Amino acid sequence: MLATWFRIPLWQRVIAALILGVITGLAWGPGAESIKIIGDVFIASIKMLVVPLIFFSLVSGVAAIGDLRKLGAVGGRALLLFVVTGQIAVWLGLALGTFFKPGEGLDQSRIEMGTVPEAATQSWREMILSIVPQSPVQVMADVNVLPLIVFALLIGIGILMAGEEGHPLPRIFDAGSVVMQKVTMIVMELTPFGVFALMAWVAGNFGTDALLSLAKLVGLNYLGCLLIIFGIYSAMIKFLAKLPVRDFFRGIVDAMAVSYSTASSNATLPVTLRCAERNLGVSNSVASFVIALGATINMNGTAMYLGLATLFGAQIFGVDLSWADYFMISITATLGAVGAAGIPGAGLIMMTLVFSSVGVPLETIAFVAGVDRIMDMMRTTTNVSGDAAVATTVAVMTGEIDRAEMVSADDV
Ligand code: ASP
Repeated sequence: MLATWFRIPLWQRVIAALILGVITGLAWGPGAESIKIIGDVFIASIKMLVVPLIFFSLVSGVAAIGDLRKLGAVGGRALLLFVVTGQIAVWLGLALGTFFKPGEGLDQSRIEMGTVPEAATQSWREMILSIVPQSPVQVMADVNVLPLIVFALLIGIGILMAGEEGHPLPRIFDAGSVVMQKVTMIVMELTPFGVFALMAWVAGNFGTDALLSLAKLVGLNYLGCLLIIFGIYSAMIKFLAKLPVRDFFRGIVDAMAVSYSTASSNATLPVTLRCAERNLGVSNSVASFVIALGATINMNGTAMYLGLATLFGAQIFGVDLSWADYFMISITATLGAVGAAGIPGAGLIMMTLVFSSVGVPLETIAFVAGVDRIMDMMRTTTNVSGDAAVATTVAVMTGEIDRAEMVSADDV
């Protein structure tokens, strides 16, 4: 029986678990909370991988790139794609909000008000300072991804500069990276169980009443995210990377399922990395650099949602928005998406930044907080798919992809 289990490809087990989890949750109701612990164990186990995996694979990846000019080429292209897709995403959210008006005619009495999370109190100066890995050990202990990337990049560059004198450090990091990939493989086997438990919890716990009264907003959030994934990313893979779109999505299905059930880009990071390298043939150096960076700053689902939610709030409270306000939202929503951590509910916290920039009352957050998790899951899937799409495209542009490694949709 065990042999049969392992013979089924992991992604098929994960999808089956996702569907079974939803059915179980709907049948069981709030009681499904009792099995959430299995999902929590799963999340904790993949979180355990984040720091050593990024550190080893990023350092060994940068050292393997071999020269600084190439590193700049990879970084520059990734940032450009992050910015362009982010802008398209925000304006898509604004367009959906303007045309479909999710906040108009809302039956407010049926909405269970959630609690407004503590506002993001970090100032821009603090934010910039927080990128500097003042104490690398502290950064690792706090699983603070952005300064960790900076530190790993610097060590990688140092190894490049040291050349022969830096030996045997490059080999140690290579070995560490291979070992961490094996550990990731072991933890990935927990995915079907984790996904099952998390989906059962979500399906069993979210009141259909609250969901129905906010159906338009939730529906638009899903529509916007699907348009980004199957419109923007498909176009990027087809026209820029010139790869079969079906194969791309087939390659990242595990990462999509894990991001959907965990609602955390950070927690999904090891899975996204593995999908990009193993299933799409992206080189270790490009994958670890672009995906680790993307998991923290490239959040197109969140950017789209911040635009949409601002219009939702403006419609509920009758705030008139001008074109200048729309531009303001496009800037603050982009910054909010960059600043949002890759953890559940981060987008909700960033709303304060966008709302206050155009005078939309913060009470709006209480309206959406109750169903945020359902929307967060889709935003996160969009964010994670975007990281994989950009990594794949940059890998093609810089000749860092091995097409022979890429899984084909016909293989299964
Ligand atoms: N949960 C999302 C992520 O991890 C961020 C958000 O709340 O929008 O990507």
